[in-house]
Amino acid sequence: MQRAKGYDPEPFDLPPIFQSPARSGAMLPWFITKFMWPQSLLWIGLGALTYHVLTPSLDRFSSLSVDDIAILWARNVVVMLVVIGGQHYWLHIRRAQGMEFKYEGRWLAQNRKSFTFNDQTRDNMFWTLVSGGSIAALYEAILFRLYAAEAIPQLDALWAIALMTIAVFFIEGVHFYLNHRLLHVDPLYQWFHALHHRNVNTGPWTGISMHPGEHLLYLSLPFVFLVIPGSPFLVTFSLIYLLISPSPSHSGFHRFKLGTTRDVHGGDIFHNLHHRYFEVNYGTLLVPMDAWFGTFHDGSLEAHELMKKRRRNTPEAGDTSEVINDG
Ligand SMILES: [Zn+2]
Ligand SMILES: [Zn+2]
Repeated sequence: MQRAKGYDPEPFDLPPIFQSPARSGAMLPWFITKFMWPQSLLWIGLGALTYHVLTPSLDRFSSLSVDDIAILWARNVVVMLVVIGGQHYWLHIRRAQGMEFKYEGRWLAQNRKSFTFNDQTRDNMFWTLVSGGSIAALYEAILFRLYAAEAIPQLDALWAIALMTIAVFFIEGVHFYLNHRLLHVDPLYQWFHALHHRNVNTGPWTGISMHPGEHLLYLSLPFVFLVIPGSPFLVTFSLIYLLISPSPSHSGFHRFKLGTTRDVHGGDIFHNLHHRYFEVNYGTLLVPMDAWFGTFHDGSLEAHELMKKRRRNTPEAGDTSEVINDG
């Protein structure tokens, strides 16, 4: 498939602490200015708003019924329609910044048989709202039930919850790499993950457009709190982070314009390269497991040559070469 040429950002670096030589002193400024600001801070804020304003209190979960899951599902749907739908409306329906900063020089697919309902946006919304929203609600209700029964350890101190909130980003770096890497192994790829990879040109609703089999794995992050201390807030925050943060990262736009002169961090070139080339960048940049296991692509020509060489040395490389020939 030939790629319609769009915006190509500069190659990116590893986080300072993982560069060689390691630049430990530069890590904190990098973490705050490149990772936390603005998106990750926004996810913490949205997690707090969702937990404190839109979530029933823990007493409700002393028994577990279908309505409790239904309430959490409806809440997820509202948050997703507002935040993901808002980006889709602004960038892809209103096309407020046109093609500026857009990775691919074409719009989302309509009338294409490979998508459910023959339409990429409807396909992506369906899997996100129906499967993603409900599996997240089920997991949240199960963990709330365990906290209500005091069956798992719970953090109380605000400072401990704050530290664990930051730790969630790192834990997810490992969790996402592992489950995503596993999903690229056949037959799991064919059964589950191929559905997400129908999308080469991605939009906000593509982020968690996944098969239920993939949602079961991808959304399982908060079960880490069965073994390390967490809290009900941390469960809601982790799930909101998993449901919402992939929407800007898959939005298709590298930066979001604010007015005519300013722009902020938008899409995730790291993961965009995964949609383009499949066998690179399985994880996240924050915890660069790809660099440690030899599948890192930073968007440079050198990384591209290395990837091609790896592919020539893999016997099954022929399977995907047709789709990933980027010219
Ligand atoms: Zn993706
Ligand atoms: Zn993948």
